[in-house]
Amino acid sequence: MPLELVTIPCLSDNYAYLIHDAETGQTAVIDVPETGPILAALEAHQWRLTDILITHHHDDHIQGVDALRARTGARVLGAAADAHRLPRLDQTLTEADSVFLGCDPARVIDVPGHTLGHIAFHFPDSRLCFTADSLMSGGCGRLFEGSPAQMHASLRKLAALPPDTLVCSGHEYTAANLRFAAALEPDNPQLTSRIAEVAARSAKGEPTVPVRLQIELDTNPYLRVHLPALKTAVGLPDADDVTVFAEIRARKDKF
Ligand code: ZN
Ligand code: FE
Repeated sequence: MPLELVTIPCLSDNYAYLIHDAETGQTAVIDVPETGPILAALEAHQWRLTDILITHHHDDHIQGVDALRARTGARVLGAAADAHRLPRLDQTLTEADSVFLGCDPARVIDVPGHTLGHIAFHFPDSRLCFTADSLMSGGCGRLFEGSPAQMHASLRKLAALPPDTLVCSGHEYTAANLRFAAALEPDNPQLTSRIAEVAARSAKGEPTVPVRLQIELDTNPYLRVHLPALKTAVGLPDADDVTVFAEIRARKDKF
């Protein structure tokens, strides 16, 4: 049976996610921006938290971890590479490690770029990938620590997952990301219809995440840097993919 997924808005624009395995009763949270909404969601579903999975060390993803551990006794898992700047870890993770949640083990994927120790969690059987601030809905995280080449390589790994994978990212940035995407690809019909869908969901106060990977492949400019249309849009028709990626990421920072 696939894992149940609950999307939890936190702080002003963060997301945490709960996943629950009905067979074993195991429940994990991915990132802990704050404890209140997560405890409320656990209570509403009558689930007991067993695991806290951390994607990266930024405060808006980890600041509730210690309090949530104290309240629930859940074990905490995060990147070995960032153990020195994460809350105390009960299990450290490196790429290709498995995280067992019920019968659907997640594979850990290194996705440096936003930070150097950023990891993603891919649950192949449930078709879920928790990408936080690496691949984001309609965009990607800002490059605080990694190089454009590192982030580009990280996104290539995520882009290679099955296209029906649900991408669960860390923030509600979709509308702004798609405005920027449309400036690059004004004639992309899938982008135009996605912008309308996102506006409709936002108007109802609904999250615009998670998103099927195929939709990202069709509309997210950072996954499309190999396409002539994108290269031409930034005036680099003959440049390699990483150069085009770097140019697009730099333009977004000034957009
Ligand atoms: Zn971050
Ligand atoms: Fe963040």
